[in-house]
Formats: sequence, structure tokens, C-alpha cells
Amino acid sequence: MTHHSANFITPEDVFTAYKGVNLIAGQRVATQAVLDVINPATGATLGQAAASNAAETDAAVTAARKAQIAWAQVPARDRGKQVAAAARAVADQAELIAQVLARETGKAIRTECRGEVAVAADIVEFYGGLGSELKGQTVPYNPRMLTMTTREPLGVVAAIVPWNVPLVLFALKVGPALVAGNTVVVKSSEEAPFATYLMAELMMKHLPQGVLNVVNGTGAVCGDALTRNADVSKITFTGSEAVGETINTIGAGRIIPVSLELGGKSPMIICEDADLDKAVAGAISGMRFTRQGQSCTAASRIYVHDSLKAAFMDKLAAALNDLKIGDPLDEATDVGTIINARQVATINRYVAMAEATEGAQVLRFGSLPDDAALSPELYVQPTILTDLPDDHPCVMEEIFGPVAVVQGWSDYEGVLALANSTHYGLAASVWTRSLSVALDSTARLNAGYVQVNQNLTIQPNVSYGGFGRSGQGKEASLEAMVEHFTRSKTIVMNFD
Ligand code: NAD
Repeated sequence: MTHHSANFITPEDVFTAYKGVNLIAGQRVATQAVLDVINPATGATLGQAAASNAAETDAAVTAARKAQIAWAQVPARDRGKQVAAAARAVADQAELIAQVLARETGKAIRTECRGEVAVAADIVEFYGGLGSELKGQTVPYNPRMLTMTTREPLGVVAAIVPWNVPLVLFALKVGPALVAGNTVVVKSSEEAPFATYLMAELMMKHLPQGVLNVVNGTGAVCGDALTRNADVSKITFTGSEAVGETINTIGAGRIIPVSLELGGKSPMIICEDADLDKAVAGAISGMRFTRQGQSCTAASRIYVHDSLKAAFMDKLAAALNDLKIGDPLDEATDVGTIINARQVATINRYVAMAEATEGAQVLRFGSLPDDAALSPELYVQPTILTDLPDDHPCVMEEIFGPVAVVQGWSDYEGVLALANSTHYGLAASVWTRSLSVALDSTARLNAGYVQVNQNLTIQPNVSYGGFGRSGQGKEASLEAMVEHFTRSKTIVMNFD
């Protein structure tokens, strides 16, 4: 066990420093086993991350438990100030973190990774200002009694993150959990752990030991141990539906709160009166084509009014052909790689289903890189599937790749019904100039985050979360911190 100051110059320094370690109570603690972390763009091994067993995972929870009582005693505003200082330490190292993130995720440095680090630091800093907003209420119960509620931390929070936007999802969990007086054990994604480690270690220097801890390993061993640890008081998870269901079952058995951010198949409804150029730009950004579509919020079901469909397809094709697919580290690149071969196989399986469907069209855009240094099998062209049956798996299920479905529509009631026809309910957007259509459709869409004439990503102060099998609970915003990272205590005083 040694304590190092994170004085890294290159991404390689970072991969070397975090070889086979967890970050527990401010120390790098070696694990017995490691797992390889691969650069998906080249196939090269970047380094070896910890493959924690149950005991090694439990050690982080023990450290977090030990630190929690004292952390909860720090005045809330002071906790916030420490968290805000931690956020600024992240912002100061933004370029290095982005370079690490691009190498481990295959996401392009210019279009994705720099922005992700900036947003992650911004979210943590936002929560740093909210310490004194953890307010309870006084209750008019009896004029001779003082009746009030207070907000208390839950204890140790287990925060489990996936690989697609690991830093933003880390920030949405760690920022509010810490400011609310909890301590945290983060389980980083085994596909892309190092940027998370770097961000966390930079933050730890501004926080008491044990308040923030990070473990890495497989979901089946490390993640499972974390969710079953009796000292964990709350689980917050972002990832796949199947794992979310498993974790929710474990949480139910233990009777602890569980927040889940799972998948989606978010509809984008383009009405006859929409501004078509805005809608095309919104489809590109909403579908997160520059993130290879690897977004839970991706606007992956585009319903465009029949009268606009041909023009929309033409403009979309032109815009997609303009995206440069290539080396994530190249400043000219717009679109990088898929995270791994398993995910590529899933994407290809869906596209093959569309190809086998009579009447459907499969359109691919842009050109794949021909650089011999890059691993060609992990690049997938932006793809549009159209004219599918409305209940086709490609229309109903999350693909989690750069594959969007475009379907024509003419009947307003019909398209609303289709928009609400999946078991998801994460996000939706409506594109119209009519206020009455905007009001009616936003009220009736079954989604937690509904926008009109835009497809923005998560904002720190705007509550975000899904309905249905897209999850439970909210992230971002003051309300999310208060509702999901504290518990309410009722106190009645009688001095009569
Ligand atoms: P995943 O569910 O396989 O893994 C997510 C995390 O959970 C990883 O850290 C993994 O190690 C861990 N894990 C796996 N099994 C576990 C278990 N049994 N117990 C505890 N932890 C376990 O998801 P992924 O492939 O990393 O990420 C892609 C998925 O994430 C997509 O389905 C996507 O829709 C979803 N996602 C959702 C949101 C959202 O906000 N709704 C955001 C991003 C990604």
C-alpha cells in the first residue's frame, strides 16, 4: 500500500500506475488477479486493471463504512466545498483524462471525450454548491409541539457504472452521494476503468480518506460482492436491463433502495410542420452518431411524417456521409469504434434481421478507415434501417450501436401509440412548430425526459431518469440528490 500523488504526464503513466489496484482509503491497494484492458481502436492491450475478488471488494466497503460517520458530521456546505474543489482538480487535468478515455473506449477525442470530462467535472461542481439545500420541513402538527423532518445520509452508497459514458455517470452518482454525507464505493467498468480511476484519485486528494473508493473487476464477482455487502445502504446502477433486474432483486431482498438507469429505444416524432434542417441535426446529435450510438438516450426510433420522409432521408444521408470515421485520437475524426467484438456482433445480428425482412431497406453511410494500424472489425458505419414492420425487433429493442430506424407516419394518434409501444420509457422528442401539438404529445408520451425541437444530453440541474423498464429513480438536479441519496427522519418534540 503506497500513496502516490497523481503526477502523470502521459496516458501510459496512468495505465502503469493503476495496474492491478483498487483505490481504497486514498491508497492504491493491489489485487491478486488482473484483467486486460484493450484499446478497441487498435486491439492493443493498454494495461491490466484489478480483477477484484469478493474480499478485495469488501475491503473498500469497510473503508467507506469507517469514514462515513465523520463525513456526515462535516457541515453540509463544507462537504460541498470539498467536493467542488475535487471537481476543479478534475477540470485541471481534463486533457489527460480525455486522452485516457479515448484510448480505453474508442470514442473520438474531439467529438466525445473532451466534452465528457468537462460535463463530468461540471456535474460534480454543481452538486458542490448544493450542500445547504438538504433541507427538511417543519410540520403544523400541534402548536405546542415542534414537528419537523430532517434529511440524513443513507450510509455507504455502491455506484456501479458502465463503459459508454463512464465519467458522466460516475459524476451523477458520486457528486450528490458525497454532498449528501454518504461515502461511496464505485465499481468501474472492466471495459474502461482507467479514466474513472484517474478522475476519482484526483478527487480523493480533496476529500477525507475512505470517503470515495473505487474497485474494479467483473460484474459477476466484484459487482455481485458489492451489491450483497451488508454494509452497503444504497445501490445506484447504470447499465443493461438484465443486470439492473438482478441488482433490483438483490436490493429487494436486502430491503435497501436501488436506483436504476437502464436501456431505451427513444422515439423522435417529426411532424409535418417541423423545421426539417433542425430535425436532421437533432437526429444526428440525438442518435449520438459520434458516440457510435452507444447511448441509453439515443433517439433510435425516428418517426417522420410521410410528407417529409424523402427529403428527411436525403438530408440525413448527406449529413451522415460527412462524418469522418477513424482513429479516435485523430482530431479530424468524428466517429470512433464500438467498445468490443461482442457489441459489434449484437449490432450485426440486428442489421442482419433487417436485411432479411422483405421491403425493409438497410442504408450505410460514410467510409470505414483503411489505416492498417486500426482494428477494422470494431468499426461500424452509421446505418439507417427503414420501412420495417412496426413490431420488428429492430424497432422495438435497444441495439446500442450506430443504427437508427426511420419509419414514416401519417396518423397522429397512431404515431403516439407507436411511440409508446416499447417496454422502455427513457426519453422522447417531438418536432413541431405547434404549441398545442407540443403540449398534447409531451403530456401523453410515456418517457421520463421529453423534449420539443431538441435532443439535448443530460444537464446537471435537470432531472433525468426513465419510466417502465428504462429504470427507476432520477439523476441530475437537486431533487435527485434529496430523494435518492438521503432519507427523511420525522422528529416530534413535546415540552408541554
Ligand atoms: P452491463 O449491465 O453489462 O454492465 C454495467 C456495469 O455493471 C459494469 O460495471 C459491470 O461490471 C456491472 N455488472 C455486471 N453484472 C453485474 C452483477 N451481476 N452485479 C453487479 N454488477 C454487475 O452494461 P454495459 O454493457 O457496461 O453498458 C451498456 C448498457 O448500459 C446498455 O444496455 C445501456 O442501455 C445501458 N446504459 C444506460 C444508461 C442510462 O442512463 N439509462 C446510460 C448508459 C448506459
